[in-house]
Amino acid sequence: MSARTSLEELGRRYGTPCYVYDLDRVEAARRDLAAQLPEGTEIFYAFKANPHVDLVRALRTGPGPACKAEISSTGELAAALEAGYPPSDILYTGPGKTPGELNEAIAAGVRMFSAESLTDLEHIGEAATAHGTVADCLLRINSATASASTGIRMTGKPTQFGIDSETLASIADKVRAVPGTSVVGLHLFSQSNAKDEAALIGEFQHTLEVAVQAQHDLGVPLRLLDIGGGFAVPYGQRGERAAYPRLRAELEAALDAHFPQWRQGAPRVAVESGRYLVGDSGTLLATVSNVKVSRGRKFVILDAGINTFGGMSGLGRILPVSVTVEGRTADGETDGEAETEKASLAGPLCTPGDLLAREVEVPALAPGDVVAVPNTGAYGPTASLLMFLGRPAPTEVVVRGDEVVSVSRIEHVRTYGRVGRDE
Ligand SMILES: *Cc1c(COP(=O)(O)O)cnc(C)c1O
Repeated sequence: MSARTSLEELGRRYGTPCYVYDLDRVEAARRDLAAQLPEGTEIFYAFKANPHVDLVRALRTGPGPACKAEISSTGELAAALEAGYPPSDILYTGPGKTPGELNEAIAAGVRMFSAESLTDLEHIGEAATAHGTVADCLLRINSATASASTGIRMTGKPTQFGIDSETLASIADKVRAVPGTSVVGLHLFSQSNAKDEAALIGEFQHTLEVAVQAQHDLGVPLRLLDIGGGFAVPYGQRGERAAYPRLRAELEAALDAHFPQWRQGAPRVAVESGRYLVGDSGTLLATVSNVKVSRGRKFVILDAGINTFGGMSGLGRILPVSVTVEGRTADGETDGEAETEKASLAGPLCTPGDLLAREVEVPALAPGDVVAVPNTGAYGPTASLLMFLGRPAPTEVVVRGDEVVSVSRIEHVRTYGRVGRDE
């Protein structure tokens, strides 16, 4: 969406809270990411960032190399299949795969799994064997060592994710012998949202060192090496996707050093990304319900709170979002002459945790104003407390430029009777 007026118009036409996602921006992000990676790098889209079927379909079709799907639930499996991902392009990950979901994935034709432990590998093998097939497994490695620390680090300490790298050699025989599985590669995911290019490159270099050692400890040749991601984009604040102009050359050099056959596809190299691919495609529109002052502090109450965006803020991660309204901006910077004032941005929920920003600069806002929160295409509805206090889920409007592609809303319906295992 180019013009602010059209965003406002959408908010008024479909009601708020309302997400607007622009498929042109999704495709631009995919193009930009592919251009910053070594030629031929496979890109797995992490559905958890936003499983909206129109967005994930755009990441598979559209110009440029098709993304593959990284999923972690039967809901995400359904979205991938509905969006036309061939089962062979789906990687199933997660630390708590249940027998039921493994069966469902294998029955649907999924054959690629990330195994997070020896027992997880055995569970995958049992499900595959029950279907008379063999699952191709990546071993997720939890590296004992860390390089530069940036973003959300998920390795180097005790965690539910992955196999501790220092134990690999001692379990390699068992890993290679699990019926119903074939270990074909490695999966390393050590960081999220790395804004600093040097840190991102350092992390990938370290990942490749860990992968070489793991390949040696395992004694199997790697066919697929998933080196994770960490590509950054602002979250609910103004700004641009991070740029990584040196990444491609540096990563190619590191791959040449550690995996000299990679250019011949041995192994194929893959990355994963959620937020970078969809984050800047989305704008959240909300309406000001009320403005009040309490003991000298101003509260702007919106119809969108942690039930609509950034539910994790309700769990202790306060997000200062930026809002814009009618050309005025509001997170410390101002456009033109607009007057700003300090206020907290609260949602409608009956909990003090329902804050989107605390004591930030906002334009003078009044009930009825429609505000826009930028860069909300990733971890929006899917990462929010949709059920909490029973408000309707936000409307989701998908556009391509000025054309509206779809308008939808998630509905929660309580079902009686046909629930449970013996359905
Ligand atoms: C969450 C997650 C991703 C996506 O992370 P982003 O920061 O959104 O790119 C990728 N891979 C794994 C294993 C994840 O858990």
